[in-house]
Amino acid sequence: MRKDSVATQKELRGIPVYSDIVIGKAHLVDRSRTKILYQCFVNGEQLSREVERFEEALRSVEAQFVSLKNKMPDTVKDQAFILDSHLMILKDSMLRDSTIHKILGEKINAEWALKKTLEEIRGIFEQIDDDYISKRISDVENVTERLLRTLSGDSSHSLSRINQRVIIVAHDLSPADTTELNTAKVMGFITDVGGRTSHTAIMAQALEIPAVVGLERATALVQEGDLLIVDGGSGVVVINPEDSDIILYQERKLRLQKYKSSIARMSHLPAETPDGHRIAITANIEFLEEVTAAKDYGGEGIGLYRTEFLYLRGKGFPEEEELFEDYREVVEIMRPAPVSIRTLDLGGDKFASQIAISEENNPALGLRAIRFCLREPEIFKTQLRAILRASAFGSLRLMFPMISGLQELLEAKAILDEVRDDLDRRDIPYDNAMEVGIMVEIPSAVAMADILAQNVDFFSIGTNDLIQYALAIDRVNEHVAYMYQPFHPAILRMIQQVVAAARNAGIQVSLCGEMAGDPLCISILLGIGLDGLSMNARAIPLIKKMIRSIPMEQARLDLAKIMLLNTAKEVRTYILQQTRKIFPELEEKGYLLN
Ligand code: PEP
Ligand code: MG
Repeated sequence: MRKDSVATQKELRGIPVYSDIVIGKAHLVDRSRTKILYQCFVNGEQLSREVERFEEALRSVEAQFVSLKNKMPDTVKDQAFILDSHLMILKDSMLRDSTIHKILGEKINAEWALKKTLEEIRGIFEQIDDDYISKRISDVENVTERLLRTLSGDSSHSLSRINQRVIIVAHDLSPADTTELNTAKVMGFITDVGGRTSHTAIMAQALEIPAVVGLERATALVQEGDLLIVDGGSGVVVINPEDSDIILYQERKLRLQKYKSSIARMSHLPAETPDGHRIAITANIEFLEEVTAAKDYGGEGIGLYRTEFLYLRGKGFPEEEELFEDYREVVEIMRPAPVSIRTLDLGGDKFASQIAISEENNPALGLRAIRFCLREPEIFKTQLRAILRASAFGSLRLMFPMISGLQELLEAKAILDEVRDDLDRRDIPYDNAMEVGIMVEIPSAVAMADILAQNVDFFSIGTNDLIQYALAIDRVNEHVAYMYQPFHPAILRMIQQVVAAARNAGIQVSLCGEMAGDPLCISILLGIGLDGLSMNARAIPLIKKMIRSIPMEQARLDLAKIMLLNTAKEVRTYILQQTRKIFPELEEKGYLLN
């Protein structure tokens, strides 16, 4: 709700996601129980529209309960009274009348009014001195929850309805919510939870939405309509800034834009060190629409196409034809440059509503990625067929995510062979020589890298997950974000071990986690000797510029010293010093904060 009192300036610090600065009005979305609850003031004829929406939702939920009751198996028919009591609540005037009264009286939308009514009813129930009756509040909550969900359609519906220039403030946004944001309107977003390598953060980068996550108390401190400065480069959020701060950040934004355009001019030069070592710099993409940006920013190919977003966007799983068309287009636009397409990595912090894996207690350790695909071979085969068919149209490589050991790899390859045989039988063309690789992102795969290397054509190191699993910290949990340490000596040793295994087996090895696009990591990754780095397209110009300024000999010397250090802090201090010396301008631009 808008504050009447004089707004006071507050500053919050969170985890920076995308380096740009925006200044705008806050718009709160509440997803405390229902995924997203859209709260807004309405007036004029919109008021009667809100009442209509609410009445429609009442009718729709009534139909849902009746249908549920009719479909109840005989074995549980005696529980039908629960649905009867839900139906009674639905028809109760307390819920209906009070909500409509609030819509009209307080000029607010239906979801918000309903939530307020629930709070009111909760208050009444709490005063009833009868244990049984007071516990019935859970029935009211269930009914309200269903009404809220119906009102909001799905989360995307409510988010896509936002049509003002605002900065979204939410407790959390899922990667799918993020894809639904109207990027023409939404200037940026800030969330209480989340880490730098969460898929929500990755989506924000892909969509070029300035964002800060992991602020912990943003939704508690920011109010609807507050003026916000969001600095997605430093992770600073200023609530109700003074005029002097607004001027300061506007100037900073201008300088940042100038700097970005100056380095973008050189982004088509190769990433070659002054002493002649060349590294392949490719882009990570999540959607077909990003391919052009990947090329514009100087990407020499697509090093990681995360394919799950087509599965998150729609209502059902995509058909083979839809996947094929999408993959073919990516490959054709990039041709002759290579595209590494990753098979489905659903689960973890990426859920599709059609599958039930979101109920797991530890989704990051659950039925994710290749495990899900091996469990659901038909879904897997559909995607593999689409990938193989697209391989006939350019230079396509396939990689399996989350491989934990040889057995899993062999099973995945056997399914790929089955699909190849099937295409052969039907005379459908595909690239016979398509390279097959794996993401190395689970510590057990690092330990087995020598064996795995003999069974694949290439490795791509996924440090986002490797850090999560090696250091046992949830990459989306802001409370342990401080422990998410790319410079941890254990991580550096693991990367070295994987590169050594690849060298021995004579296969290519690249790295596609967020480390690849982090200016502070570049010298280390150069020294370790990776063949390629794949990153968020917008990071490419700066990373190329840096590689063109660091002699390989220097990177190797630095690495030798770094590998003698025992803590992430020591490594970071050392690397920060070196980077400041060569690139003094990066600090002021907010690039050296991670
Ligand atoms: C990784 O884990 O480093 C990676 C690149 O994949 P994702 O971020 O999609 O899990
Ligand atoms: Mg991963």
